Amino acid sequence: MKIPLAQPDLTWLERKAVLDVLESTFLSLGPKVPEFERAMAQYIGVKHAIAVNSGTSGLHLIVRALGIGRNDEVITTPFSFISSANCVLMESARPVFVDIDPETYNIDPDKVEAAITPRTKAILGVDVFGRCAEWDRIGEIARRRGLAVIEDSCEAIGAEAFGKMAGSFGDAGCLAFYPNKQMTTGEGGMILTDRDDVAALCRSMRNQGRDEGQGWLEHARLGFNYRLSDIHCALGLAQLSRIEDLLAKRAAVADLYRERLGHLDTLLLPVTPRQGRLSWFVYVVRLADRFTRADRDCILLALRENGIGCNKYFAPIHLQPFYVELFGFKPGDFPVTEHICERTIALPFFTTITPDQVAQVADCLTQAICTTERRQ
Ligand SMILES: *Cc1c(COP(=O)(O)O)cnc(C)c1O
Repeated sequence: MKIPLAQPDLTWLERKAVLDVLESTFLSLGPKVPEFERAMAQYIGVKHAIAVNSGTSGLHLIVRALGIGRNDEVITTPFSFISSANCVLMESARPVFVDIDPETYNIDPDKVEAAITPRTKAILGVDVFGRCAEWDRIGEIARRRGLAVIEDSCEAIGAEAFGKMAGSFGDAGCLAFYPNKQMTTGEGGMILTDRDDVAALCRSMRNQGRDEGQGWLEHARLGFNYRLSDIHCALGLAQLSRIEDLLAKRAAVADLYRERLGHLDTLLLPVTPRQGRLSWFVYVVRLADRFTRADRDCILLALRENGIGCNKYFAPIHLQPFYVELFGFKPGDFPVTEHICERTIALPFFTTITPDQVAQVADCLTQAICTTERRQ
């Protein structure tokens, strides 16, 4: 691809941080792990941050630490990356999907209450595309019904709402650092919580079930190796020191796209929240309702033929084959999610994309939409 879909922003600062660790003897369980955790806890404004080797691992540990298991239900969204529902399946609990709001793409709080049953243990919301979910209303429902709240902020580092940072709204939240995210450690994630009990369990379970101060061969409970190495944490510290600059650069790219595409009545551009701050993760545009999934797929093909990285975003989780097999979901079950999934296009989006490249993408997309429309 001449213009990739995503690309990390790495400088001499990151290279030096990694080399410093390589020159020390602490490649894992060393000083960079607590240093990265403290810096992240302070940035987000939570008591505890626990580094793990992926966002998925973090979500899994949160579900386990909250004691969610067989016969339990967790209310969540089908418009997300697969991990936010899989983490519930990993503990043999049942994800109960609720459709989304067509403007925010986040779980629709008006539909949550009707999905609660005596088996419901938690609401797992996702800050989709870097936009905080309606945590005031979700929190109110959860408090009233005695449910835990899990925040998947894997796409939303730095997003703000109601004067608080994404990742700090629920009983526990989680960030992720794959290279397409706003900041990266290569692979990695971070659990965030104010709860001492959840933090202690997550710390133990990421490290083979060892309790704080226990020896290498002493295991208090079933655990995993979900540790993040000092190499990754050093990279994360360097990225975190630049986070506000990284977020500002992404916001500037989003502005460029709006300038180039804002006049098209065939496209719906991302809507920014009236209050708070969106943390730009991807630039996902949506074709008008008169376009079909086949039209969208033609446009994706045309962009790729011109060397432009792009993708649909997302595919509905409930229609993944193993969800269909396990739960019998079928097309039409979550119509808002499906309607949007059929019409989305994620465009190349990263800090170092040039104005000229944005213009190329916009021209190619405009052309492809025109061609598709003439065929209708
Ligand atoms: C990226 C992401 C994750 C975590 O992904 P990992 O690759 O496991 O770090 C989880 N949920 C959502 C919504 C994501 O976008």
